[in-house]
Amino acid sequence: VRIEDKLYQNRYLVDAGRPHIKVRQHQSPSPNLLALTVVCPANCYQVNEDGQVEVTADGCMECGTCRVLCEESGDIDWSYPRGGFGVLFKFG
Ligand code: SF4
Repeated sequence: VRIEDKLYQNRYLVDAGRPHIKVRQHQSPSPNLLALTVVCPANCYQVNEDGQVEVTADGCMECGTCRVLCEESGDIDWSYPRGGFGVLFKFG
């Protein structure tokens, strides 16, 4: 089973206009930010046409990988979604 097929089982309740992850403004991405485009299991981080890293947090699984990676550098702001929003895992 492909990982994409497994991820498709999850459901998300998007808190419109209040993303729980934000990338801090930058001219060019730090090595940490570039690493996020590879390590995020939900592929939430992308490099845009201006060469900056941006996040689309709608599919975030709240695994915390990006939070840990950028804990010291402060490249992102990360908080849990408000109650009732975010990922809903389906098991089985
Ligand atoms: Fe991706 Fe995990 Fe960070 Fe969510 S918490 S954006 S799934 S690395």
